[in-house]
Amino acid sequence: MNGTPRLYHEDSFLHAFDARVVAHSSWNGAPSVILDRTAFYPESGGQMADKGALAGIPVTDVQEDEAGAIHHVLSGPLPPAGAHVRGEIERRRRLLHMALHTGQHMLSRALLDVARGETVSSRLGETACTIDLGVEKIDERALARAEELCNSIIEDDLEIRAFFPTELELKSLALRREPKVSENVRVVAIGDFDVSPCGGTHCGRTAQVGLLRVTSLERYKGKIRVTFAAGRRAFEELTAHSDVLQALGREFTCGPTDVPSAVDKLRRELTLAREALGHARAELAESSAEELWAKAQATDSTRVVAVFEDVDVPFLRAVAKRITARERSVVLLAATTSEGVKVLCGRGPGSAFDCGAFVMQAALRTGGRGGGKPEGAEGRLPVGVDFAKLVVELCI
Ligand SMILES: [Zn+2]
Repeated sequence: MNGTPRLYHEDSFLHAFDARVVAHSSWNGAPSVILDRTAFYPESGGQMADKGALAGIPVTDVQEDEAGAIHHVLSGPLPPAGAHVRGEIERRRRLLHMALHTGQHMLSRALLDVARGETVSSRLGETACTIDLGVEKIDERALARAEELCNSIIEDDLEIRAFFPTELELKSLALRREPKVSENVRVVAIGDFDVSPCGGTHCGRTAQVGLLRVTSLERYKGKIRVTFAAGRRAFEELTAHSDVLQALGREFTCGPTDVPSAVDKLRRELTLAREALGHARAELAESSAEELWAKAQATDSTRVVAVFEDVDVPFLRAVAKRITARERSVVLLAATTSEGVKVLCGRGPGSAFDCGAFVMQAALRTGGRGGGKPEGAEGRLPVGVDFAKLVVELCI
């Protein structure tokens, strides 16, 4: 026997079949069953394995060994050798694989014809399908044309034929790529659009692919990697994106297609709001600095000590900058935040106060951190530190 006879070669829509258990074996340490024939597709050629059930027991993996025997890995006890069993393929999963695989043939052909990109490898994954092209770059408009060509081939509803040609017949076929096997070459012809050697499962007509979408393009190891979706997966991805856009439209009280301009408007408003906030902060820093300096002057002092709530360090710097413009001034500022007490120390050009030493002492005393130069320093003290009290203690 030349490996396990494959029923999917004749009919990829066969989702239930009867077979006999020929032997028990194992695959990667897991017990497996070998049948006298099977409709289960083993993982190969970049296509994932089928799932389903054998005699009611879930089939978790299907693999092909070097001799061509197909192993069915089951999640329960194996039916005995010689037993007649019913095999059932998970229909939705198989139909998706057929659409993805047929879509891959069509897109590989379209990329070759429209963008001169030859497929060097392809992968139909659980979540994404990719085609690697042996070119370093590709024109995005050509890629869009290739996608459009695939969808027009879907609309044309061409017949897809899988067959084993005679050697003579094989020589006369214009195959897109060389076969990977030397005998029993199986050929898949999508109308007269594409003819390729392939052992996988495909749709019977192009309309069954439903829809093909190129979802991304990237450079990968000196090649171009095209990610695509087809069939139900393309539909589900589009639906998910559409749902997000609809929800955004409701948020912005506009239609889905107006979301980009609504986001643009929001961006412009944000820029204006940031500018206004910047001006307001500058004014607030100015008036705070004036007020604090006036208070200090009222007590004949050149030292300003102040604690702010819910302000950021740039605000402290803005206030300090205005006060330290005065010749002999010293500023000791703090902002209480949920992350701790942020402190800033600065001095005027005529002052000999050592800001770095002050912040370092404050950090040492409280278990905080910080430091700087004699002219200016910053730090962060633990939550709850009474900064005004600390200043009195450290500056006596
Ligand atoms: Zn194929």
